[in-house]
Amino acid sequence: MKLETLGYLCCPACRGEFEIMIEAQTESEVLVGRVVCHGCQRSYEINYGLPNLVYPDPEELPVIDAMFLKQYERIATSYDRTLRLMLLVLGIREPRTRKRDLVAPLELAPGDCVLEVGAGTGSNLPIIAEQIGKEGKLFALDLSPGMLAVAREKLKRKGIEAEFALGNGAYLPYKDDLFDAVLNFGGINTFGEKERAIAELVRVTKPGAKIVIGDEGLASGKENTWFGRRLLKMNTLFANKPPKEFVPKQVEDFQLKWIWRGTFYVMEFRKTLA
Ligand SMILES: [Zn+2]
Repeated sequence: MKLETLGYLCCPACRGEFEIMIEAQTESEVLVGRVVCHGCQRSYEINYGLPNLVYPDPEELPVIDAMFLKQYERIATSYDRTLRLMLLVLGIREPRTRKRDLVAPLELAPGDCVLEVGAGTGSNLPIIAEQIGKEGKLFALDLSPGMLAVAREKLKRKGIEAEFALGNGAYLPYKDDLFDAVLNFGGINTFGEKERAIAELVRVTKPGAKIVIGDEGLASGKENTWFGRRLLKMNTLFANKPPKEFVPKQVEDFQLKWIWRGTFYVMEFRKTLA
């Protein structure tokens, strides 16, 4: 974690300011230490340069979050391969489709500051990095240490910088109105507190900026096709509907579409100008 990143962070429990205690650092990175909240006095550790800003404690997570956390830990190293295979079966090629369907709606420009919540193994991050350029700033958050480890390794290999943090999508450790765009793809279905998570995505986004939220969910009519039934048998997450009832009423330019042959939904909208 870079020292300057501290200016973007706040306590996920009470949104208080952090003070940092550094135990080991390089010229540019804090490797070991902790941040302590001025408000509630909670302390969060930084290890291997990765701040652990998860709130609440893992044992207090909603059942669904805890269950999927366990599952993601188990499948982290094979996740990319499995997804690529599934997309190949659908005749869909990464990363072109990610760029067109997930990153383009973010309307990125060079120098933008972007957050991906539920970044998983980080497949969208290089595409975002390419669009915001060297002067941009990229943040990636996930609840699963295993998935984030894969993402960090992937970006390191590609020579791309991002500020990673372990955290809960429903309790974001970032200050208000920070980001020029926010993406959450492949997470919301497994969040126990969906309404809170969407409100958090909106909170940390700058007024007027784009928010894109997507996940597994068959387009209507697909459930009854041979293909749809096969998918549902493989993975019940495809039975999910877009949680559009949790999108705040006052957002602008709301759009809902299905991508990847009607297997994933994508909601995009703009935070209302203050
Ligand atoms: Zn606090």
